[in-house]
Amino acid sequence: MSAFNRRRLLQTAGAAALAPFAARGADAPPPTLPWPDRIPPLAPIRASTDRLFDLTVCLRPFRAQGPRIEAEHIGHALVVHNYGHGGSGWSLSWGSGTLALRLAMQRNPREIAVIGCGAIGLTTAILAQEAGAKVTIYAKDLLPDTRSARATGSFTPDSRIALTDRVAPDFGDRWEEMARISFHRYRRYLGLPGTPVEWNDRYYLSDFGPNDTPPPKTPDPSALDFAEYTDRIRDLIGHSQELPADATPFPVRGVRRGSTMMFNIADYGHTLMQDFLIAGGKFVKHEFRSLAELGHLKEKVVINCPGYGARALCKDESVVPVRGQIGWLVPQPEVDYGIAYRGVLALSRKDGICIQMVSGGDMRGYGDDNETVNRAESEEGVNIIADLYSRFRSQT
Ligand SMILES: Cc1cc2nc3c(=O)[nH]c(=O)nc-3n(C[C@H](O)[C@H](O)[C@H](O)COP(=O)(O)OP(=O)(O)OC[C@H]3O[C@@H](n4cnc5c(N)ncnc54)[C@H](O)[C@@H]3O)c2cc1C
Repeated sequence: MSAFNRRRLLQTAGAAALAPFAARGADAPPPTLPWPDRIPPLAPIRASTDRLFDLTVCLRPFRAQGPRIEAEHIGHALVVHNYGHGGSGWSLSWGSGTLALRLAMQRNPREIAVIGCGAIGLTTAILAQEAGAKVTIYAKDLLPDTRSARATGSFTPDSRIALTDRVAPDFGDRWEEMARISFHRYRRYLGLPGTPVEWNDRYYLSDFGPNDTPPPKTPDPSALDFAEYTDRIRDLIGHSQELPADATPFPVRGVRRGSTMMFNIADYGHTLMQDFLIAGGKFVKHEFRSLAELGHLKEKVVINCPGYGARALCKDESVVPVRGQIGWLVPQPEVDYGIAYRGVLALSRKDGICIQMVSGGDMRGYGDDNETVNRAESEEGVNIIADLYSRFRSQT
């Protein structure tokens, strides 16, 4: 949800439904939009709880200071840490890997070990290969079984990335560099067979129009101030656009539309695994019990990308879990857009329609390490979307 101000959109999408939605009078002509802005025919999402075919839970590895990208010596090895990317791991992966590799290449190694095969480990390993090293990934789980595989898959480079008052003074600049490097790298995966990466439209729907006054929200005194940097890359991701609600099929008073880059993680992940193998990479399944073990590897340069696993492996309590759950509806290839409405995000990916409760904003799931699925949570989201589409206006 990075194409515009995430916080404002979460507020409007999650606002209570107190106002009646705008029903167009039968005789009134639909408002017109300039030709290039017209809404293409939108296929409705077939939201019903019996179409939920999977539920997944993932923990975001959040650090108030932002990701840890720094080197230390362990035994004879130079260990470069690259973990703690909160809700932005996929989005920042290439940039973060580039920064980590700069530290690793100071020794000009011929062989590099990468610990972890999630979004961060796999992309860092590919970058290390491109820099000329022979790379082995050591990991407890390979990508399809990692937490990364259970993410939403949007370009959200500042989602739960840090706290405003805890970052170093140069963090904004480092973040911007990571975000820009990643964004440009994703350009390479657009337009490929299997659609590993694509752009699509998102509609942010509200029961309140631009001139309505929503009821005041009760401030949450325990809410943390999550850092936001999206405005720094506005030239890349553009702005959202307010649409006349009546010009859309959505039965609401407020509609904004933006375009977002999305990762179809099933295909994108498969592509990355193949690219790594084709370039001569090796996978070794192994679980490390302590950081000291990294110093015993044959590779003397190690890039450590264990995600939330850093809490146990590095005894790093600065890594805080932020739980997130996705309910998966049967894929509908004809649905080529996403929506956010009343605290629910519904995104159509090639491998399923992802339904995610986002009410509560960035504090949702904070400090919660429970990885058990909660079916009622996903059913609540599906029912909200089902109600919306039961009032969907036909475009024919
Ligand atoms: C619901 C949800 C939605 C999300 N949506 C998005 C999104 O749209 N866009 C986005 O950019 N980000 C998103 N994220 C965040 C993203 O998923 C994470 O930032 C990312 O997965 C972190 O990747 P990682 O490689 O660091 O960790 P992981 O995927 O957890 O990978 C860690 C790797 O290290 C290995 N490992 C760990 N400990 C050890 C050990 N002791 N020994 C050996 N191996 C070990 C694991 O087996 C695994 O291979 C989302 C997160 C959630 C929860």
